[in-house]
Amino acid sequence: MENHYNIGRRHSKKTSSLKIFIFLVLIALVALLGFFSATQFITAQSLQNQLKSLDQKIDQLQEEQSEMQNKYDEIYEENERLREENQQLHEENKMMRSESLIEHGNRETDKVAITIDDGGSEAVNLRALDYLRELGVSATLFPTGQNVEAYPESWKRAVQEGHELGNHTYSHPFLSNLSEERVREELSGWQEAVDNVLGEAYHTLFFRPPYGDGFLAGQDYQRERLQPIVAEEGMFPIMWDVELVYALRNEAYTASRITEHVLQNARGGSIVLLHFTEADIEALPNIIHGLRERGLEPCSLRELLLAEPQS
Ligand SMILES: [Zn+2]
Repeated sequence: MENHYNIGRRHSKKTSSLKIFIFLVLIALVALLGFFSATQFITAQSLQNQLKSLDQKIDQLQEEQSEMQNKYDEIYEENERLREENQQLHEENKMMRSESLIEHGNRETDKVAITIDDGGSEAVNLRALDYLRELGVSATLFPTGQNVEAYPESWKRAVQEGHELGNHTYSHPFLSNLSEERVREELSGWQEAVDNVLGEAYHTLFFRPPYGDGFLAGQDYQRERLQPIVAEEGMFPIMWDVELVYALRNEAYTASRITEHVLQNARGGSIVLLHFTEADIEALPNIIHGLRERGLEPCSLRELLLAEPQS
């Protein structure tokens, strides 16, 4: 009996343990499910946050990218500009390093540079500009600093109309008489006069010594002293191969004789030296017409010296 009871009790004990076990397993399952869904919820939440911040990052990157694009465009333009400038500087450097004095340009071209020195009365200055404008010629003009100060309107107009100015010193002295310090003052005096009149820093490559003094044949010592000073200022000395003052010194100095002499002597690559005198400027239109009739092209020094040679 007792045995039977025991068996029954054992049996019911087994049943209830099983129930508890199942119950515990269920609770564990529920807890596990709860845990998983909570984790998933949290994960989803944080994924959403991450997505949001990714969106923001994408926006930010897009903005940065368009900024970069703009910067790139700017840099590209700047680069193009520098490339052009570099090309020009390369040509200029080539000239400045050249030890030989420039008396003419490349003989293979049809170009002839028209250079006019000193500056004259305002009427003569303006008449020269009128002729050059009518005939469509850009020339290189070498006024003294004093003439630039005396007739500012002439030189402002000259630059506006596409002519280039070259340094011819402030007061037109014989440079071989001057100390190096005084030579520097003459160069910077011209520069200041031109900058003041034009209202901006003007850069010229060309220097013409008054009377050619210091750079003439037989003045090697002077040239060795003076040329480095001119180069320091970023210029090179420009002489000529056709001039009138010495060539016609024993003749009547008339416009027709001036024209004749220039047309007889100028050829491709020539640098013609005229002055702002009544006679020279009177001759100017016929000189230009005559050069063109001979198949030559009157132009500025820059056009002659820095242009590619014609093929
Ligand atoms: Zn002069």
